[in-house]
Amino acid sequence: MAAKWNLVVDVERCDNCRACFIAVKDEHAGNDFPGYAAAQPAQGHNWLDIRRRERGVYPLVEARFMPVMCNHCDDAPCMKVARDGAVRKRDDGIVIIDPVKARGQKQIVAACPYGAISWNEEKQLPQHWIFDAHLLDAGWTRTRAEQCCPTGVFRTIKVEDPQMREIAAREGLDMLQPELGTRPRVYYKNLHLMTHCFVGGSVVADVAGVEECVAGAEVILKQGGREVGRATTDTFGEFKIDKLAPNSADYRLEVRSAAGSSGVGFDLGAESIYLGVIRLGTPG
Ligand code: SF4
Ligand code: SF4
Repeated sequence: MAAKWNLVVDVERCDNCRACFIAVKDEHAGNDFPGYAAAQPAQGHNWLDIRRRERGVYPLVEARFMPVMCNHCDDAPCMKVARDGAVRKRDDGIVIIDPVKARGQKQIVAACPYGAISWNEEKQLPQHWIFDAHLLDAGWTRTRAEQCCPTGVFRTIKVEDPQMREIAAREGLDMLQPELGTRPRVYYKNLHLMTHCFVGGSVVADVAGVEECVAGAEVILKQGGREVGRATTDTFGEFKIDKLAPNSADYRLEVRSAAGSSGVGFDLGAESIYLGVIRLGTPG
């Protein structure tokens, strides 16, 4: 069994500096790599793009970012609509849209369910991020995106598929839209930061007539009477419980500490929730 390329992207580490985006532009804009990719036009193409998501409401808000690109799927829809073998899967897992054979085949663009293919109007050519195959073939072991990323978002891994499955299981990696059955070779760590919701709040108690933050309070989240999450308040009395499925509805939050206890119920919709100030000693 041959070792194949995979890419791991850690969403938690991305701060939207866009150095990876520029690196892909620098590599391909105006540069032809025969057999791999024709030159990328100066404008309009984002072979590697950065998605953004805001979660929460004031005062508990966060912005998250995630690089997206061709997933080099093992069961690639773009290959299925290509004529004359214009899209091929290499033995090392990389998908190449042939810069000559694919000319005029605009149907390849629409076939990608991830929107990862751009149409080059001037060259009448579908184009995508080629996993830096031209560099890997020359002996590189990391993509340019990985080399330039200052926060270590990317990890290029060449292993046999069973070993990659083990790594994915051990590290809790996800794929984008696995329900499509395309079997991507790009994996995401901490993808919940883009796809799931959190609930947060601030816990206070009355101490000698003064409202004080309660640090170290135990916060337990339940659904249908079953515990589904747990946190401890920080120095400022704040807590956050993450990885909640959007629109998962009916929850009950219980807070306990030496300063008292409280409880609050809420419905989770499509967005994260800030429950505001929760006062101990006044159960809801
Ligand atoms: S992500 Fe899109 S372009 Fe890339 S291999 Fe999969 S279907 Fe093809
Ligand atoms: S270089 Fe790294 S931190 Fe910067 S946008 Fe790209 S992935 Fe995010």
